[in-house]
Amino acid sequence: MLNMMIGFFKDYFKYREPAKKQQKWMDKYCEQKGYAVNPNWMMSTNLKSNLCEMEATFGKRYCPCFEPSGDKALDKKMSCPCEYVEDEIAEYGTCHCALFGPADLSKEQWKASSKRLMDEYQVPKNLKDGLLDTRNMPLDPRRGLPIPDMMHQVKSVLNGYKGEKLTVIVEREQEMLNLEKIVLYRGYECSWEPKEDYFEAVLHLKR
Ligand code: SF4
Repeated sequence: MLNMMIGFFKDYFKYREPAKKQQKWMDKYCEQKGYAVNPNWMMSTNLKSNLCEMEATFGKRYCPCFEPSGDKALDKKMSCPCEYVEDEIAEYGTCHCALFGPADLSKEQWKASSKRLMDEYQVPKNLKDGLLDTRNMPLDPRRGLPIPDMMHQVKSVLNGYKGEKLTVIVEREQEMLNLEKIVLYRGYECSWEPKEDYFEAVLHLKR
């Protein structure tokens, strides 16, 4: 929890300025659609920081909850605000990431949807002796992508990680390409190689 809070405030200060730009389009979008942004400051701030990081890392405003899939059509659908908003509001009360919901959504409904999201990310990580295996996570039914994805698993582990090296196993080459970008953006080094039916990267975390 402490590591999560440290990560949150680090990102908050890092993205304070670009987050204002995110807020502008969000306000406009909400006004057009009759939506609101999650009223919980920590939730909305964290999602805005994640959007900024997605833009800085991958060059586009992808959904803060899903790394790019490599499928151009799907990635286009996942640009925030994504194509799933209405459908997910009908199911969860808010969009998947609990960033947008109807303007008249009650506090309790915002809370319930935010908890649903947090629970999705609380699954135990497959981390042992400096090796993180990111495979075999449940799939989101609409996007067909894992939750939590490789990106969120790695970031969460890095938040409190004390080692100088982390080995990461991913299932698909696109995840490896994403990991390379994330690692470089954070100022670390990374080498990777394909194995028989997975990809393995070694992250060198000493700067
Ligand atoms: S689920 Fe919400 S935050 Fe994620 S892309 Fe869609 S609208 Fe944006």
